[in-house]
Amino acid sequence: MGKNNQEFRAGYVTILGRPNAGKSTLLNSLLNTKLSAISPRPQTTRRRVLGIYNDDRMQIVFLDTPGLLKPRYELQEKMMQYVHAALQDADVLLFIVDVTEKQHPVELNIDKSAFENKPLLLALNKIDLINKGDLLPLIDRYKDFLPFKAIVPISALEQDGLDELKEELQKLLPVSPPYYPQDILSDQPERFFVAEIIRERIFHLFHEEIPYSTEVVVEEFKERPAGKDYIYAVIYVERDSQKGILIGKKGEALKKIGAQARREIEEFLGRDVFLELHVKVNENWRRNPAKLKRLGY
Ligand code: GDP
Ligand code: MG
Repeated sequence: MGKNNQEFRAGYVTILGRPNAGKSTLLNSLLNTKLSAISPRPQTTRRRVLGIYNDDRMQIVFLDTPGLLKPRYELQEKMMQYVHAALQDADVLLFIVDVTEKQHPVELNIDKSAFENKPLLLALNKIDLINKGDLLPLIDRYKDFLPFKAIVPISALEQDGLDELKEELQKLLPVSPPYYPQDILSDQPERFFVAEIIRERIFHLFHEEIPYSTEVVVEEFKERPAGKDYIYAVIYVERDSQKGILIGKKGEALKKIGAQARREIEEFLGRDVFLELHVKVNENWRRNPAKLKRLGY
């Protein structure tokens, strides 16, 4: 707690950005950890807390926006509930864009009225990849897109500009006591993040309806003091044909998912893991209320 409790600020910051914008990197840099000390708490159904930043002046609870920037999202009702909850609960909306992306990366397929009355902040990420002289035109390009309170150039990877970003966030957060104990980094268990990493890999590697038909469940997560952690995850798809695509010829596709996901999981957890993946058909799970419920929606 700060010296002056009345000045302590705390609030929810929803991050909006395309895959690859650098969201995970930013959180890891801000939280200064691989989120390895996650405290297992019951999952809240309406919010996805990505991570919690604490210092002696503020607490920032970062929320995710599943699928917001992806045009053809299925499971629409549930997903839109998440999105709207994440927007409604937000005290600040933080947009993050990759400055090396050629096309305008802030294309939102959501009604701009959802942003009304919320302070908006823009982080221009990956500035380590451009010349300093190119920064001003970039800021110009974005400044009229939405009424941003501030535009902060950062490099999440090289931890550049993060103090400025925290400073801007601090100004926009309400004066409030912390929402969570100040020694926890998230309200989600590690297995939630592991499932998300696998799901994200599938979004990177597959197109069309495959990613949208996929759900990932971590069925086993065993810490083995003598060896690597053992993780057994099931990738559910809706049809046999999708199963074939995910597994690929001689299992090549699934191997690729596994290799990439394992690397990310290890980076995230800060320790080595043994990852076993299986693909199973769960017919039409997206349209079946009982199945959705069982999957935690
Ligand atoms: P996310 O999909 O938004 O979570 O993006 P990630 O955090 O996974 O980052 C996507 C890729 O961009 C990774 O290869 C990161 O290493 C890279 N990246 C993220 N931030 C930066 C940055 O500031 N500079 C550079 N050069 N690369 C970055
Ligand atoms: Mg990520």
